[in-house]
Amino acid sequence: MSLRSFLEFLEKKKQVIHVKEEVSTKHEISSIMGAFQNGPALLFENVEGHSTKVVGNVCGTRERTLQALGVSVEEIYAKHREAMLSPEAPKVVDDCSVKEVVEPPRLSKIPVLTHFEKDAGAYITSGVVSAKSPDGEVENVSIHRLQVLNDRQLAIRLVPRHLYRLWTMAKEKGEDLDVAISIGVHPAVLLAAACSPPFGVSEFGVANRLLGGRLSLVKCEKVDAYAVAEAELVLEGKISVTKEVVEGPLVDITGTYDVQRSQPVVDLVSVMHRKDYVYQALLPGGSEHRILMGLPREAAIYEAVSNVVPKVKAVNLTSSGCGWLHAVISIEKQTDGDAKNALLAAFAGHPSLKHAVVVDSDIDVYNPEQVEWAIALRFQADEDLVVIPKARGSTLDPSADQESGLTSKLGIDATRPLRVPKDKGSKAKIPKTGTSQKIITKICRELSE
Ligand code: MN
Repeated sequence: MSLRSFLEFLEKKKQVIHVKEEVSTKHEISSIMGAFQNGPALLFENVEGHSTKVVGNVCGTRERTLQALGVSVEEIYAKHREAMLSPEAPKVVDDCSVKEVVEPPRLSKIPVLTHFEKDAGAYITSGVVSAKSPDGEVENVSIHRLQVLNDRQLAIRLVPRHLYRLWTMAKEKGEDLDVAISIGVHPAVLLAAACSPPFGVSEFGVANRLLGGRLSLVKCEKVDAYAVAEAELVLEGKISVTKEVVEGPLVDITGTYDVQRSQPVVDLVSVMHRKDYVYQALLPGGSEHRILMGLPREAAIYEAVSNVVPKVKAVNLTSSGCGWLHAVISIEKQTDGDAKNALLAAFAGHPSLKHAVVVDSDIDVYNPEQVEWAIALRFQADEDLVVIPKARGSTLDPSADQESGLTSKLGIDATRPLRVPKDKGSKAKIPKTGTSQKIITKICRELSE
């Protein structure tokens, strides 16, 4: 299963806009991508100075991302849970499409985008980085932003998570860390790479499970790492354990500039790609970024809250909360204390979460008006508010302490208190007759014409 097969599917559904005008990789493509958030996928066919096409906004809507996995919004968390609990190693192939061209690295030949006004430069933002521990026992797959430094070097942002741990292990041995960077992959691979299974579980196994066993990998030519066999493009390189550079600034998921940090250099050694490869762009802070990062965290919150309350209906890491910092969780509660336990579990399930609202299952978590309605009529600040001062949060939040990452968390129990009778604490309904329904449908049709 490849990006290409998914794009063919989207073409049939008329969800791809072809841009034929010549556009620049500097700001032009990103500004067009930015204008069509939550819109169709965009295929830029005429990129200034390049013969390569660029595709963007592939997973720009939640519906499209779920379509890629072949699941409904109700099924996604169970599917995710199954894949996390029983990952399945992908098959390894020798011959594959990404090996059509193998050549020395020349990053200036690849249409890497410069996205925002004050970004430090061109950044690869959809690179799936895979690496193994020095003893070969553990593989990790994750997405990292990669700043182009010159034709054969990148700077990599290593958040202290699993790849950072592998890099630390390599550093202790005094060896650089071999990595494969797969670009242009099926959405399931991007989603799996954004998950956090325990250290030791390869996200490739999670992706393969999400794809029903249809992911294949290929061993790299010049480094000891596995890449996605049906990727459009693979960069082979080594994360240096001695060389660091100033990385950033770059806009991240919040849509604000992240600070500059000293980060390791990746020395590229080889590139392989399909003859007519398509470069996959991903706009930082765009809807696609929020969906790909947010969906696996929603699943983690769903899982954590399911352990403490009888039933979780839905979880939404809201778009305005950057798909990362704000959650709305709907539950069916049995006692008044359930919602507070749900809040505590949600903060544990997604440690970057800052503000959370728990609502009853009659509230649509994707509808901000309904959520605010629940806060207006079902919430009393003196008893339904939870404040946790100075917990670990996200340094992407500029109001959090940038050194320590400490941030205060706030939870709102907006579920109907059980002392309030159901008919007093719920929206009243107007019964519809067959006639009224027919008239409503007719007017809706007229309005949409
Ligand atoms: Mn991992």
